[in-house]
Amino acid sequence: MIFKKLFIPERQADGIWDIDFQAEYDSGFRAVIFDIDNTLVPHDAPATKETAEFFRELREIGFMTCLISNNQESRVKPFADEVDSLYLTDAEKPSRKSYRKAMKLLGTNLQNTLFVGDQLLTDVLGARRLGMHHIMVDPVDPESEPQHIRFKRVIERIMLFGRKIKRVSKKDLKKTEE
Ligand SMILES: [Mg+2]
Repeated sequence: MIFKKLFIPERQADGIWDIDFQAEYDSGFRAVIFDIDNTLVPHDAPATKETAEFFRELREIGFMTCLISNNQESRVKPFADEVDSLYLTDAEKPSRKSYRKAMKLLGTNLQNTLFVGDQLLTDVLGARRLGMHHIMVDPVDPESEPQHIRFKRVIERIMLFGRKIKRVSKKDLKKTEE
């Protein structure tokens, strides 16, 4: 049972744009840790003006942010500079160490740190192992993914088949307000 839970995301969303971060802040979160590739932008794509604007809005809400990527410095640093965020490279997710290290950088803990990533077998598994709250987003552009990730997507689909997972959406939130 516990083993199974490791491979089930706590919550899901269509994308970062459909997460109500103000509501997350109001529920007690103070920092967001993001995966980069296919969570924030297509695989290997640079940060856009919209991405920088998105991070500015998060800061306005009151969030601190950190990027953790299994990718290298050459990929991650320019991205982090563009969005003005803390970052960690070569994270080796699903290892727990980078999640811990990120919290240390942020000065936050498991209660007030939210993780957002797109892959079940790296992002979600790492967060689950540590007990970090998380939201799994659909990949920004599945077409941009290299072959080995496409293979993992097949496994993800099998593992999540028929599972009822809470899907957050800004639309839902508006409904409950009405
Ligand atoms: Mg990713």
